[in-house]
Amino acid sequence: MHAPLASETDLAGFRVAARQLLAQQVPPDRVRWHVAGADASDLLNDASERLLPAAPAPAPTPAPASTGSDPAAPTVPASFVHLCAEVVLHSDPERFARMYVLLWRLVHEPGLRCDPIDADMLQAQHMAQAVRRDMHKMKAFVRFRQVADAQRPGDPLHVAWFEPAHHIVEAVAPWFARRFTQMRWAILSPRRCVAWDGAQLTFGPGASRTDAPGADAGEALWLTYYQSIFNPARLKLKMMQKEMPRKYWHNLPEARLIAPLAAQANVRSEAMVLQPAGVPARRIVRAVMPLAQAAGSAPPARPASLAHVHEATMRCRECPIGAQATQAVSGQGPHRARLMFVGEQPGEREDLQGQPFVGPAGQLLDRALAQLGLPRGQVFVTNAVKHFKFELRGKRRIHKTPTQREAAACLHWLEDEIRLVQPAALVALGATAARALMGRAVAVTAERGEWLVREDGLQVLVTLHPSALLRMPDEEKAPAYAAFVDDLSKARALFEADVAP
Ligand code: URA
Repeated sequence: MHAPLASETDLAGFRVAARQLLAQQVPPDRVRWHVAGADASDLLNDASERLLPAAPAPAPTPAPASTGSDPAAPTVPASFVHLCAEVVLHSDPERFARMYVLLWRLVHEPGLRCDPIDADMLQAQHMAQAVRRDMHKMKAFVRFRQVADAQRPGDPLHVAWFEPAHHIVEAVAPWFARRFTQMRWAILSPRRCVAWDGAQLTFGPGASRTDAPGADAGEALWLTYYQSIFNPARLKLKMMQKEMPRKYWHNLPEARLIAPLAAQANVRSEAMVLQPAGVPARRIVRAVMPLAQAAGSAPPARPASLAHVHEATMRCRECPIGAQATQAVSGQGPHRARLMFVGEQPGEREDLQGQPFVGPAGQLLDRALAQLGLPRGQVFVTNAVKHFKFELRGKRRIHKTPTQREAAACLHWLEDEIRLVQPAALVALGATAARALMGRAVAVTAERGEWLVREDGLQVLVTLHPSALLRMPDEEKAPAYAAFVDDLSKARALFEADVAP
């Protein structure tokens, strides 16, 4: 008996057909599952066999049998329904037959539910695991390339080529739509393609690799970034290949850098070990600035220039952090910059150099700004807290997040910078900056990429802190970076409003 399915991932059709087959007591070895469009000859050869009627349009979520709501229908555990939802995406042509075998056995062999090592069940679980892994890899390894669209100048299309092992494109597409909501994109793959126009997903048949665009300028920047964050002392090739299996390499632009970078890793790590340790030079004057006001006395005059802010922060001891740091790091950038980027606090590198965002997080920020055509020299970059807070582990100074009290004590310096620079908008990099600027806790992942408005009317765009991207597992870095750039792109219009003639 033939059981027709509308598509390779027709779970609803499978459920309907499986229920009918069970009701007619048709055992698994009498059923041939047939996906429309695949294997037509098979169907024609067996035309004498009675076909089940084609499954109706997908119903929302009926169970393969029933999980208990219809007393007449046999019941199966809810976990089996979830299992089927993943197994159906596997590329094994026998997956529908395997699911029906399991369903049949669950109905006829009550002991199967309690058998943790049943071979059929274990195989289905492995298939589901392979599907989940493939979905995870797709999220990590899709690399978009920008394609100019003559019809919509300024609103390029981003196209990626990806070769999933299983039928996962439809299942993963909503994740990409949420992640890259503001971007127009298309993912081409051999069996299925999907496009997002900013409002809806459209699916189409498979494409060929030659339909995908070649490298773009963003890719050259991505390669430079990948090279610069590659740490030769941390190279673990086996781990890397486990996370980034070789089968994905031919579609990953950065993969071609791995061999040359790995070849130099030993020499570079030895050179790093031989470098003398840096000794932080204390440059601040140890005097305590008497900011505490006597009751009834006039409030202290606010600094009249950015240079005054800098001098005052160097002496500031309104919280304990200042006494430990090498020096204060106040903001940097043009006095009338249109955009002000606010981070958390200086890191080790910033503490030593006295400038904000010059370490790895700063390099990542610079790269994103360059990609968006926002020269770092034309924006103002500062922090919510002006001194480096750390804890000593041996000789190493490890970054410590400032407390809310410490950030609150520093806030007036940040507000002085805002008052003096008068930016058109603020960009909060991470939760500490967002809280300082908005005066309330901000859920960064929920509110990122949106313009928030402060009580004084200034707009604030919230996104992740670049250090958060650096801490992510390698396979998550590229999509997270693209989302970060996408968030920052919202600020570009305000910047351009100023530079346009
Ligand atoms: N992180 C920050 O928040 N600010 C810097 O200046 C450097 C790293």
